[in-house]
Amino acid sequence: MPRTMEGGCHCGRVRFRVTADLDGVTECNCSMCAKKGILHLIMAPEHFELLQGKDDLATYTFNTGVAKHTFCKVCGIHPFYVPRSDPDKIDVNARCLDGFEPASIKPKQFDGRHWEQAMQQDVPWR
Ligand SMILES: [Zn+2]
Repeated sequence: MPRTMEGGCHCGRVRFRVTADLDGVTECNCSMCAKKGILHLIMAPEHFELLQGKDDLATYTFNTGVAKHTFCKVCGIHPFYVPRSDPDKIDVNARCLDGFEPASIKPKQFDGRHWEQAMQQDVPWR
């Protein structure tokens, strides 16, 4: 069931509110996600609202440059970003939701290390 939740970076400068379903959380094994430890919660932009911190965000891009890896300039945490798989959507790091309990969810697996092949399969969040 989708519900409204708030979250943010570690220092609190970046804050957001989302309406999303934690059953849709996905884990990816690509070079970036593995190091970041992100748990993906991908949603349409209308379900995401940046409450504060726009000016505290920096953006890192690599490879195709499609994904916009935004992170807080002060504390370095990546609370959300624009994913390569869905550049018209917002990908929130479920770990940055207030009170998030990783043990309470069973993330679906995305083989981002083999991105092209994985995208031809049924992408779990669609
Ligand atoms: Zn921060």
